[in-house]
Amino acid sequence: MIDLVFATGNAHKLIEVRSILDLPQYNLLSLKDIKFHDDIEETATTLKGNALIKSRTIHRLYGGHVFSEDTGLEVFALNNEPGVYSARYAGEHKNSNDNIDLLLQNLKSKTDRRARFRTVAALIFNDKEYLFEGEVNGHIAHEKSGNQGFGYDPIFIPDGYLKSFADLPNTIKNAISHRYNAVIKVSQFLKEQCSNDEMI
Ligand code: IMP
Repeated sequence: MIDLVFATGNAHKLIEVRSILDLPQYNLLSLKDIKFHDDIEETATTLKGNALIKSRTIHRLYGGHVFSEDTGLEVFALNNEPGVYSARYAGEHKNSNDNIDLLLQNLKSKTDRRARFRTVAALIFNDKEYLFEGEVNGHIAHEKSGNQGFGYDPIFIPDGYLKSFADLPNTIKNAISHRYNAVIKVSQFLKEQCSNDEMI
C-alpha cells in the first residue's frame, strides 16, 4: 500500500473524498492521522494558489505523496464572488450561515442567479506538482433548504435537479459535484502511476 495524505482539516471534505477516491493500492491518510493539528493559512488570491500552499506545507514537513483541494462558489451576477474568499465572505469567523445570509442579501436585486462551484486539487507525487480542476454549474436558491453536506450546499441547486445539494442524497452530490470532477482526475492519474510501475 502507498500512503497518500489528504491535506485538509475539513471533516466533510474528508468524508466526500474517501467516498469518491477508488484507489485500493493507496492508503488515504488525513491530517489527524499524521498528527498535524495546526491551521494552514490560505493567503493566496486564487484557488490554485491556496491548494498549492496546503500541499506544499505538508509535503515540506512530512515528504511522501500529498494532495489538497481548494473550492470556491462563483456567482455570475456578483462578478464571480465570493470565489476564493468563499470561507470568509461574511468575515474572518468563517461561519457558513452568515456567508449564506450575506450571499442571499447581495443577490436580492438580481434576476440572474447562475453560479458554479469550482475546485482545484494540487497533488504532489514523487516530489512533482500536478493540478486538477473540477466544476459543477447550477443556481442559487431563494432560501436555504436541507441539512446534508456543508457550507453553501443549502442554497446551491445543481443543473438538472430541483433540490439543493443539502436536500439531495450525498450519493448524488458525490457523483456530480465540483469535488467529484476534480478528485476523479486525481484518482485516474494515481491509478495510471500504479499501472506504469507494474509495466517497468
Ligand atoms: P475551502 O475550500 O475549505 O477554503 O472552502 C471555501 C468555502 O466554500 C467554505 O465556506 C466552505 O464551507 C465552502 N465549500 C467548500 N466546498 C463546498 C461544497 O462542496 N459545498 C458547499 N460549500 C462548500
